Amino acid sequence: MAKIRVTKEFTFEMAHALWNYDGPCRNIHGHSYKLFVTIIGDTIEDKNHIKQGMVMDFTDLKQLVKEHIVDYFDHSVVINAGADKPEIQKVKQMFEKLYIVNYQPTCENLVTHMAALLVDKLPDHVQLYSMKLVETATSYAEWFASDND
Ligand SMILES: [Zn+2]
Repeated sequence: MAKIRVTKEFTFEMAHALWNYDGPCRNIHGHSYKLFVTIIGDTIEDKNHIKQGMVMDFTDLKQLVKEHIVDYFDHSVVINAGADKPEIQKVKQMFEKLYIVNYQPTCENLVTHMAALLVDKLPDHVQLYSMKLVETATSYAEWFASDND
């Protein structure tokens, strides 16, 4: 039996705006995000188990991440609830899939939110090890379970 980390990669489109920020990201704009989800667990040793030799079936991991994260955020607009009310009203009229969150939707805070959405949805025999959210070709943020015990 070996302890193994297994990673699956996802892509989705999302728009955001950083309220009260002193750079161009204060305007609503989009990214093609990449999300790497890494779980850790022991490989299944039971020779009669249909998932023998796997930590978790990639297909099952894909389904969980798709259901709880990708389908939720894909083609959405995420803005900070701290923005001025009239500004939020304007945005509300324009977008159907709008999330007004209680945090600044930076890459760092988004990956923390995404980890929280998945951490208790995994089967008992595996744990969420880390998540890496890639915002641009040269920028990403990582969440590690070990950093957040
Ligand atoms: Zn951005």
